[in-house]
Amino acid sequence: MKKEKEEKEDEEKSEGVKKEEKEEEKKEEKKAEIKKTFVNPFSQKAPGSGDPGADYDPRKAKYHPVKDAFWQKGQKMPYLALAKTLEAIEETSGRLKIVEILANFLRSVIVLSPDDFLFCVYLCLNKVAPAFEGLELRIGDTILIRAIAQASGRSPEKIKADAERLGDLGIVAEQSRTNQRVMFQPAKLTVAGVFKKLKEIALMTGHASQAKKIDLVKGMYVACRFCEAKYLVRSLGGKLRIGLAEQSVLMAIAQACYLTPPGQEYPPEVVDAGAGRNPDKLKAEIDEYALILKTTYCEFPSYDEIIPVLLKEGLKKLPEHCKLTPGVPLKPMLAHPTTGVSEVLKRFDNAKFTCEFKYDGERAQIHMKEDGTINIYSRNQEDNTSKYPDIISRFKNSLGEGVKSCVVDSEAVAWDRNKNRILPFQILSTRKKKDARESQITVQVCVFPFDLLYLNGEPLVREPFEKRRALLRENFNEVEGEFVFATSMDATNTEDIEEFLEESIKGNCEGLMVKTLDVDATYEIAKRSHNWLKLKKDYLDGVGDTIDAVVIGGYLGKGKRAGLYGGFLLACYDVENEEYQSLCKIGTGFSDEDLAKHTEFFKQHIIENPKSYYRYDNAVAPDHWFDAVQVWEVKCADLSISPVHKAGQGIVDPEKGISLRFPRFLHIRDDKNPEDATSANQIAELYRNQEQIKTSKTKSAGDDDDFY
Ligand code: AMP
Repeated sequence: MKKEKEEKEDEEKSEGVKKEEKEEEKKEEKKAEIKKTFVNPFSQKAPGSGDPGADYDPRKAKYHPVKDAFWQKGQKMPYLALAKTLEAIEETSGRLKIVEILANFLRSVIVLSPDDFLFCVYLCLNKVAPAFEGLELRIGDTILIRAIAQASGRSPEKIKADAERLGDLGIVAEQSRTNQRVMFQPAKLTVAGVFKKLKEIALMTGHASQAKKIDLVKGMYVACRFCEAKYLVRSLGGKLRIGLAEQSVLMAIAQACYLTPPGQEYPPEVVDAGAGRNPDKLKAEIDEYALILKTTYCEFPSYDEIIPVLLKEGLKKLPEHCKLTPGVPLKPMLAHPTTGVSEVLKRFDNAKFTCEFKYDGERAQIHMKEDGTINIYSRNQEDNTSKYPDIISRFKNSLGEGVKSCVVDSEAVAWDRNKNRILPFQILSTRKKKDARESQITVQVCVFPFDLLYLNGEPLVREPFEKRRALLRENFNEVEGEFVFATSMDATNTEDIEEFLEESIKGNCEGLMVKTLDVDATYEIAKRSHNWLKLKKDYLDGVGDTIDAVVIGGYLGKGKRAGLYGGFLLACYDVENEEYQSLCKIGTGFSDEDLAKHTEFFKQHIIENPKSYYRYDNAVAPDHWFDAVQVWEVKCADLSISPVHKAGQGIVDPEKGISLRFPRFLHIRDDKNPEDATSANQIAELYRNQEQIKTSKTKSAGDDDDFY
């Protein structure tokens, strides 16, 4: 009775809050109206403002890299050109158009400012160095707010309040510029100048550097024109988020190099190699170019090395110059979820394949250079070397005679030395993430190597897995509890695989990884067909795998959950269109601590409006939209066609999308970026396979879009 009363009171309270919110909304609408009629000279396009940069538009059809650019060869490249491109991309939905816009801009860079090409690529990706260098741009809001306040004369409190309301400090920075009082106009920002300062800031450490950072930010901020402030401030905070995935950047680089080849005399003879060509043929040729670039990038993910070669030698020469090298972590082969043994057998119909235990630990790519230096990299190419001094000091015990350099792909798993058994992932995650001292390590690990990608100066990625595995076993020695080859079985019948799956679960593993040995068995990630399959025990419960979904919104809790988010809107990632598509609402599986933690976290990521690359139906619009920054692993009863959700829309049903039924939260996937979430195609395939199991029909499974 008491509980009922409390709940009623809570509801009444939340009704009251809703009323207030509605009034607040009305006020906001009014403000927006006022804003519309007030022309902000810094954020509007201001045609005829006398500045040719104000009208720069890389969206233009039949773009000419010289005539449509507003700077000259030999001039320092203006940052405004890049900011305008980022703005155009942010306003565009549709992957092909986004690629075209960026390619147009890059064509101008190739012809007019090739020395700035590398900086432009990094700035588009909101990075300043390759992932393995561990150099990140993530200046805290406090510093940015102080810099904006000092430069604009506005109070930090006001700026903070505006940023919280709008969910984007970049917009606030742009709008605050109108209040700025300047004695004289500072020099215009250049791409090279901005990049170098961003890198300088990223390299600064310690508390003492704060004042210096504020000065540097201020210096750039006062020089901002038009939309520059928005993108500069977002970049500084590591929150560019304009819906531009790395895949599109790679595609745009390839397209730009094809249409306007680098290395030509000025003025260039070829400015548009696609003009007048048959569109299908042109597309096929550009795709071929892109595959060369993507393959090179997967094996050698360092723009620092790739871009200079690209500009000097041309894109086709990349594979000769940028090869897999120990010390540069390569992109890892990923796994595709399957619903059961029958699907595995069907997919790998004519190929020889093997099943391996799927260990539940952390990916460890172990690199040994000729000079004996050993590095360990994560799934995301971060340098984990200082996390695993124990693996490093023991590695020599496993090296066979004659191994001088190598790259081993493996899983590091928590290991109970007394009982000689695998421990759960949760135990591994308690290890110190950096600068661990070997003598202080309490959680022991055993490395389970499953692939060999490089040996004594030779990349092996184009060799079939059968050969790579044989070389791994020949050249390395097992050491109990330290370095043990992944348990495997090369059987091909359903009963044996099912038995092996059971065995893996009993051995504290997650399930199986299934890999071809001969056909399509190279380690070429950029080729979509070369996938590994994962088979988790969960498939027995109906759905083949848990799903990794991105949180894009939150619903305010009621009753017991008042003051917290009580539910969330999840999305999958559509690789083709580079957009997040709503997948389900989720409200179960959370402990009270989970909800408090999620609320605290997502409060920092509220955005005023959904991004242009979110697909959803208004019927499921959340109370607060979030930036796509976190991936959750969730489990569901099954998948169904949905009239409201947009996941995989148009793949299974021409109009409707797919949603998860009865989703439950399992845990946060810190090791996955939002773009690594389960893809729309995978959702569609999980749905199809589930239907197939239900009806026992034999339909052929479509291709997936797991990665490149
Ligand atoms: P998931 O992250 O669930 O998509 O599964 C793929 C991950 O499983 C890989 O990135 C590895 O970290 C891990 N893994 C565990 N055992 C193996 C194995 N035998 N072969 C390949 N990957 C494995």
